[in-house]
Amino acid sequence: MGSRAVRTLSFPVGELPAPLLELLAEFRLIVNKSIRIALREDIRSRNRLATAAYRTLSAEHRIYKQYIPTAFDVALGVLKVYRRLVRKGKRSSIPFIRRPMLKAENQSYRFDRETGRLRIPIRGTEGVQLYLMKSQWHQTFFSDSSWELGSLTVVPGKVLLAVRRVAPKPYQPSSAIALDTNEDSLDGVVASRPEIATLVTAPLGGVRQVQMVHFRRRRQLARRKTHDRRVQRWLLRREGQREGNRVRQRLHRTSKFLVALAKDRRAAIVLENLTLHGADGRSRRMNRRLSSWPRREIHRQIEYKAALAGVPVIKVNPAWTSKTCPVCGARRRDRVGKDFVCLMCDWEMDRQINAGLNILKTALASNEALARAVRFQPGALRHDVVIPLYDLSGFLGGAREEPSGVESQTG
Ligand SMILES: [Zn+2]
Repeated sequence: MGSRAVRTLSFPVGELPAPLLELLAEFRLIVNKSIRIALREDIRSRNRLATAAYRTLSAEHRIYKQYIPTAFDVALGVLKVYRRLVRKGKRSSIPFIRRPMLKAENQSYRFDRETGRLRIPIRGTEGVQLYLMKSQWHQTFFSDSSWELGSLTVVPGKVLLAVRRVAPKPYQPSSAIALDTNEDSLDGVVASRPEIATLVTAPLGGVRQVQMVHFRRRRQLARRKTHDRRVQRWLLRREGQREGNRVRQRLHRTSKFLVALAKDRRAAIVLENLTLHGADGRSRRMNRRLSSWPRREIHRQIEYKAALAGVPVIKVNPAWTSKTCPVCGARRRDRVGKDFVCLMCDWEMDRQINAGLNILKTALASNEALARAVRFQPGALRHDVVIPLYDLSGFLGGAREEPSGVESQTG
């Protein structure tokens, strides 16, 4: 059985009509009241919260009744985060949502996929209509009936529409593409059964350069506009959004190509698990001046695109991947320069590629299905050259570019 893939489509909307703004304010109140009730009575399930609170809240708020259980879900979601923080001793004040919002399940609203007309009920037969400005990219989801409509979220200025579809079951891989994730490239190896291995690098299109330019610009802005904090904050935020868009766009090109290539070769994609910190200073690498966000973002993109394409993704613990010799297994405890050099067997390899080889080795050691499909002997490729991933024969991605800043994935 496949899992469910969810994407969230974002639509900017202007000033919302007054009845809708009032509805958002009511919904926010219901969520905040629900939070207090659930906290007071130590409630963690929607059913129990409904028993405890539905009657009172539906009497106090004259809104379309189907919104109330959805408000319970939002409240329980907020509480879940809060309880985790309390357990870690990080927070104690009672949480609440600050901004007006509305969340509606797909049976509560009507959306016309052709015209973009959205009808949101307020109460009884009363409702408001909005027209969502669809881009061509949005339309690819609406024209494809395998994408079902999910929940709707409205906040001032923005409508978020979730679309979902059942993802295919991942295939059994017959090869592997293992990559180390660096600031400006993914580096590693494409390997398959008859000991054919190619060292590859996939540049991220100058992401590091983009980050540096924006970093400098932000610093200048911060210096210049010190007399007005509000203006400064606004400028900085806008600058940050621009940077995010430019970076995301570049990453989409790479993630799209990589997933298409993997599918074409029935390969598993092997990556390091970025949420685990390695024993080799990776955690420090993550905390350098430029943010590590692009590395997490490219993984996010690869994972959701792979899920939709039925491409298996394997994540491995990155501990020691950049300090281990893939041939003899010896480790270096000192700092590794641009090239990894093994003191035991003289193996020498670009540090980032070397990490990619170790990522593959780790995956082969822990994943039987992959080990059956892939033979890998790094010693055999000692003198091999590194080629750009995009040059792999017969494969030139006519990758359609996705507009940036209009999608995200929700769990
Ligand atoms: Zn060695």
